[in-house]
Amino acid sequence: MEALVIHAAGDLRVETVETPALGTGQLRVRVRCGGICGSDLHYYQHGGFGVVRVKEPMVLGHEVAGVVEAVGAALQGFAVGDRVAISPSRPCGLCRYCQQGLQNHCLDMRYYGSAMRTPHVQGAFRQEIVIEPHQAHKLADSVSDHEGAMAEPLSVALHAVNRAGPLLGKRVLVTGCGPIGALLIVAARRAGATQIVATDVAPFTLRKALAVGADEALNVAEDPQALARFSADKGHFDVLLEASGNARALVGAFDALRPRGIIVQVGLGGEMTLPVNTIVAKEFDLRGAFRFHEEFATAVALLNSGLVDVKPLISATMPYRDASRAFALAADRSQAMKVLLSFD
Ligand code: ZN
Repeated sequence: MEALVIHAAGDLRVETVETPALGTGQLRVRVRCGGICGSDLHYYQHGGFGVVRVKEPMVLGHEVAGVVEAVGAALQGFAVGDRVAISPSRPCGLCRYCQQGLQNHCLDMRYYGSAMRTPHVQGAFRQEIVIEPHQAHKLADSVSDHEGAMAEPLSVALHAVNRAGPLLGKRVLVTGCGPIGALLIVAARRAGATQIVATDVAPFTLRKALAVGADEALNVAEDPQALARFSADKGHFDVLLEASGNARALVGAFDALRPRGIIVQVGLGGEMTLPVNTIVAKEFDLRGAFRFHEEFATAVALLNSGLVDVKPLISATMPYRDASRAFALAADRSQAMKVLLSFD
């Protein structure tokens, strides 16, 4: 079978790799499609992000869906032909954090397509993959493979919303409207937010923010003062969901956030300088959000029941052999949100 292997920045190859043997408690899945994530783009464009570097060839990809083509002899509850979204989260289940229900902080996490540890954990942009049954979440007939591949980024958004605490009746600001920001809008609305305002610097992504349910979408490149009207009386928003990873977006929202506002930082942006005095004086609650675990099942349940619509965020599907063109499109926020690779 073939897989998409990153060797270094700009060096992404279609290579033949071995099909792993199927264990008696495992599933073999024919991968049908996979979404290109910001981290895949970072590996492709820069050979990594922050201190994480590609040091050896690694199969990319962690947002995939496919169809079961073999079921291990000892495994119940799955059948050949089942369509599944695959969770890339593979915690050990044994360490102190797994035991506390904090699987995203597992001490021995083997998340697909990640160079955070060496040897790197090989990813899921491949024609076939052998998985554990806890990773397989069945898709309803009404949900396409493409939508199924969106379960992973939707899980990231659901986890971030969980980190914010209850959003029922809350006013929410979302900064950065790439795929994750747009899915934060979807997730915040589902969680009961009564007002959602989104900001970005690209007209295309702002239109998508409106398409998935934002009440207002503000272009802070065209109008740097767009949030000024929310700064009266020490601020308007209860919660800031920050998905751009840009310090200007984060700090630029401080005046619009009311005292004791909750900030959930989802975007990764490297080093930032923050006005700590403001965080102290307004008693902001600054929280990180990283990956997810149990939210993956929730994401698939929301897709299966039709309670969320991710279709407006799927910009294109391209064959995996055209990966360099697909990655270039995925990096272009003037015309693309989520770009999917087809592995048929
Ligand atoms: Zn663990």
